[in-house]
Amino acid sequence: MVTAARSMDELGINQGTSGNVSARAGDGFLITPTALPYAETEPADLVFVGPDGTARGSRRPSSEWRFHRDIYAARPDDGAVVHTHAVYATTLACLRMPIPRFHYMVAVAGGDDIRCAPYATYGTQELSDYAIAALADRKACLLANHGMIACGADLDAALALAVEVEMLARQYWQVLQVGKPKLLTRKQMAEVLEKFNDYRSD
Ligand code: 13P
Ligand code: ZN
Repeated sequence: MVTAARSMDELGINQGTSGNVSARAGDGFLITPTALPYAETEPADLVFVGPDGTARGSRRPSSEWRFHRDIYAARPDDGAVVHTHAVYATTLACLRMPIPRFHYMVAVAGGDDIRCAPYATYGTQELSDYAIAALADRKACLLANHGMIACGADLDAALALAVEVEMLARQYWQVLQVGKPKLLTRKQMAEVLEKFNDYRSD
């Protein structure tokens, strides 16, 4: 988890004390501590949070433990959650713009678009409720005036999706500098989603 958290800085998808990472553990999850830069974070700094929200550890859990908890409770297939303030995803989120079906890779997040959840103060239950709704049938969403969330079966998958969402946000932002993108049809996206079920290296 610490390696994954640190790699967010190296991958250029996060900075400072922004963002947080968690992984399912037993009936709860382990999460990065609040307000600690990842470069200074050690495994002993991770905090266990139970399903009722009680925290166990030497530090305070990330202020965003509520949406991490609610994702694990609502989505049994997800084993890891990555939250970042990646620059391009956050740019679109500040415009409260979802990422539409402008490129077939939008389907990596599980559907036709990547939604942008409405704004709510960081760390609140309201933000968690908005995030859970924006993530319905999706593996990622933007958070208005804030950043993004990417979920996955494990940390590698969640991290890879966060990188992909940031790249899509960057491409979409760049397209908008030149003109209005021609969107794929819902049928074309459905074909991609179908093919992704069989996309693997072995
Ligand atoms: P934490 O340091 O509490 O994880 O908060 C960072 C953040 O991104 C809040 O949304
Ligand atoms: Zn944040």
